[in-house]
Amino acid sequence: MTHRVTLIPGDGIGPEVADATRMVMDAAHPGIDWVSATAGAGALETHGSLLPPETLDSIRDCRVALKGPITTPVGTGFRSVNVALRQELDLFAAVRPARALPGVPIRHPGTDLVVIRENTEDLYQGIEFERGSADAEALREELHRLAGFDVRADAGITLKPISVTGTRRIVRFAFEYAWANHRRKVTLGHKSNVMRYSDGLFLKTFIELSGDPLISRDVEVEEIQIDHLSMSLAWEPEAFDVLLLPNLYGDILSDLCAGLVGGLGLIPGANIGWEYAVFEPVHGSAPDIAGRGLANPIAMILSGAMMLRHLREPSAADAVERAVDTVLEAGAVRTPDLGGASSTSEVGRAIAAAAAS
Ligand code: NAD
Repeated sequence: MTHRVTLIPGDGIGPEVADATRMVMDAAHPGIDWVSATAGAGALETHGSLLPPETLDSIRDCRVALKGPITTPVGTGFRSVNVALRQELDLFAAVRPARALPGVPIRHPGTDLVVIRENTEDLYQGIEFERGSADAEALREELHRLAGFDVRADAGITLKPISVTGTRRIVRFAFEYAWANHRRKVTLGHKSNVMRYSDGLFLKTFIELSGDPLISRDVEVEEIQIDHLSMSLAWEPEAFDVLLLPNLYGDILSDLCAGLVGGLGLIPGANIGWEYAVFEPVHGSAPDIAGRGLANPIAMILSGAMMLRHLREPSAADAVERAVDTVLEAGAVRTPDLGGASSTSEVGRAIAAAAAS
């Protein structure tokens, strides 16, 4: 079947890993009609916007996008493009599997985790007040008037909203995912003893919903403080299965899980909403290695496999994942982050050949 997919190469190493990924996708499933679009620092130069309206229109039209990483200019007042994209398209669930891959030596070879991160609320919702601004001053005064809170006059402020609505849908999503993917347990991470009204509500809503067998569907449930979870993950990652996390913790622990299975070059991701889905590697634009053919394309290639599965092309998705395993297991073709000397495109070509065979 033919599928239209928006392809956003992104910045830094993005175009390199996107080229390699496209090669693999076309080998595994020739029926993809790619629609090119732009976002990020490159788009700012060519279109005068980090996230041009045409790009959003293209994703709304195709409903599915494959995206490379994007550089967000720091300290220039620009909002993160990734955060904006997730909010504009209401991509409320991030799914980030971290499994041990063949031929990649790691400390805990039994690691097989999936991070499910709430993608739209929490400290990443973007409700911020700049230090010294009139709005920050007004908020400080209001907080004092309302509840006697004293925020220092030289403080910048970021708010952390977590709603029942936002939590209910991510909890349901996590159980659906666990059930559909034959996962045994969902572990919720939180810090409800300190943030009673945000993390506390996340936890309370989880406990309420998980008590309903129609929602939890016999999947085992557990809740754990986020600091304790971090230590336990480093110590014994095999003890966990699906991790359900609010936005900020989900971002941080995704990278921790990447470290557990061999690095950022290997971890794919999906951002899913009711209407649209955007697939992207967890890693950033890696300016330190950009343009030199050093980037590992596997994270984006595996994001492409997740996309194929979402498009109901399971045999093509399986072929891509098997091809990645085959190439990693053989060990001859791999990028420097995995101790090899091959280039991004050589790895792409090897995986494409394995996927087509
Ligand atoms: P990063 O993920 O780009 O890089 C962290 C480290 O991992 C670097 O040493 C890099 O060389 C290495 N690395 C990352 N991907 C790799 C790959 N595929 N192969 C081999 N090595 C790889 O994180 P950063 O340096 O903190 O961020 C750089 C830029 O990326 C920033 O502008 C940040 O905002 C952006 N970013 C974008 C996304 C996204 O678009 N989804 C995600 C994270 C960061």
